[in-house]
Amino acid sequence: MNSEQARCVTHRFDLLVLGSGPAGSAAAITAARAGLSVALIDKAAFPRDKLCGGLITGRTVRYMDGIFGLPVLPHLFRPSTRFRLTYQGRVIGRDDDAPALQMTMRRDFDAELHARAQAAGVTVFAPVRVTSIDTEAPGLMLSDGRTLSGRVLIGADGANSAVARALFGRAYDPAEIGFGLEVELDRAEMPDDDTTEVDLGAALWGYGWVFPKHGSVTLGVGGGHAQNPDMKAHFRAYLTQHAPHIAPDRVKCKGAFLPFGAYRKTPGRGAVLLAGDAAGLVDPITGEGIAWAMKSGEFAGQAAAEAIRQDRPAMEAYMARLGYIHREMAAARRIRTLIYAPIIRRHFPRVVERNPSMTRSYLRLLSGQIDYADLGSRVLWRTARRFVTAMLPRGR
Ligand SMILES: Cc1cc2nc3c(=O)[nH]c(=O)nc-3n(C[C@H](O)[C@H](O)[C@H](O)COP(=O)(O)OP(=O)(O)OC[C@H]3O[C@@H](n4cnc5c(N)ncnc54)[C@H](O)[C@@H]3O)c2cc1C
Repeated sequence: MNSEQARCVTHRFDLLVLGSGPAGSAAAITAARAGLSVALIDKAAFPRDKLCGGLITGRTVRYMDGIFGLPVLPHLFRPSTRFRLTYQGRVIGRDDDAPALQMTMRRDFDAELHARAQAAGVTVFAPVRVTSIDTEAPGLMLSDGRTLSGRVLIGADGANSAVARALFGRAYDPAEIGFGLEVELDRAEMPDDDTTEVDLGAALWGYGWVFPKHGSVTLGVGGGHAQNPDMKAHFRAYLTQHAPHIAPDRVKCKGAFLPFGAYRKTPGRGAVLLAGDAAGLVDPITGEGIAWAMKSGEFAGQAAAEAIRQDRPAMEAYMARLGYIHREMAAARRIRTLIYAPIIRRHFPRVVERNPSMTRSYLRLLSGQIDYADLGSRVLWRTARRFVTAMLPRGR
C-alpha cells in the first residue's frame, strides 16, 4: 500500500470524540475504561491555550478526581481562601476564611486531562483539521484525507461547535450567548492582589473577576453579549479600577464566547451527542463551565458504551442521565431573571451589604458546596422579601 492509499483508509472506532477540552477528555477516558475503542480528535496540539478564568470549584475538584483520578496537585493549582464581592469597586461582602477555590492555567490543566485520556488507551489525532462531519454514519473526514468512522460521535468542540452546526445549523443563539474579555497580568503588576474578587457591577448580566494564580493574576469581564454591546469599555474601566498604572491600550486582552446558561434541551440526535460548551452547559450566574463539561462528558461516554452494548440510540441513554445538570441550569436561569431585573439590580449592592448570608450563599454556590436545588424555595422567598423591603420608601 503506498502512502496515498494509506491516507484514504477508513479508521474504525466504537466512539469518535471531537474536541479534547474537559468535556472531550472526560468522554474519551470514560468510554475507554468501559472497553470502547476511542478516537479523540483536536485541531490543537497539546498543551494549548484556552481563554478562561481558570477558577476550579469544589464541584470541579470532585469530578476531576472521580473521572480522571486527578488530585489537587500543588504545581497545577493555587488555592484561594480570601474572597471579596464588590459592586463597581465598592466592597459589599467579604470572607477571609472562605471555602477554598483553586486557580489553574487551562494550558496546563487541559494538557493533564488530555494526557490521562491518552494513557487510558484512547487514540489521539491532533493537531488535525476536520473537513467534513457526517452526522448520519457517523464519521469525520480529516484534512490529510483520512476518514474516521464510529458507532457514536460526541461533539465536545466548544462554544462554536462544528458538530452542533452540522446537526442544527448553528452552534448557539446570538441573543443568548455570553462573551468574556480577559488579560493575564504579571504578579508584579498587581502585587497585593491575593484575594479572589467578583464584581457584580462590572458588566450587565455578568461580572468582573480577579483570580490570583501562581505566576499571574487573571483579570476579566464577562456577561451577556447582547446586554453589553461595548464589553471592551467595561473591560477598560475594570482594568483601570484595579491597575490605574497600566494604560488599557498597553495590554492585549483576548475575548471568547461562552454559552452562559443557554443550554440545549436536546443536545444531539441519534448517535451524535453534544457535551460541555457545545451543549451550552455553563452556569448562567457564576459562569462555571469546567465542572459541567466534565460531568456531561462522562455522561456522554457512559451513554455511548451503554448504547453500543444494548444496541439502542445513544441519545436515549444520554438524555436519561442529563436530568440533574439540566435542572441546575433551569433553576439558575430562573434566579438570574429575578436578580438581573433592572429594578432589583438597583438595590442589589445595599441589600447584599446588609445581609452577609447572601455573600456566603453565593460563595457556597461558587465553590460547589451547594447546588441551586439546595437553595430551596425558602431561601429564595427570604431573598425576595429582602429586596421588597429595600425597595419600600424609608419610614414604612
Ligand atoms: C472568558 C472566560 C472565562 C471563563 N472562566 C471560567 C472559570 O473560571 N471557571 C469555569 O469553570 N469555567 C470558566 N469558563 C467556561 C469554560 O472555559 C468552559 O465552559 C469550558 O472550557 C468548556 O469545556 P469544553 O471541553 O466543553 O470546551 P473547550 O474547553 O472549549 O474545548 C474544546 C476543544 O475542542 C477543540 N476544537 C474546537 N473546534 C474544533 C474542530 N473543528 N476540530 C477539532 N477540534 C476542535 C478545541 O481546540 C478545544 O481543545 C470561562 C469561559 C470564558 C470564555
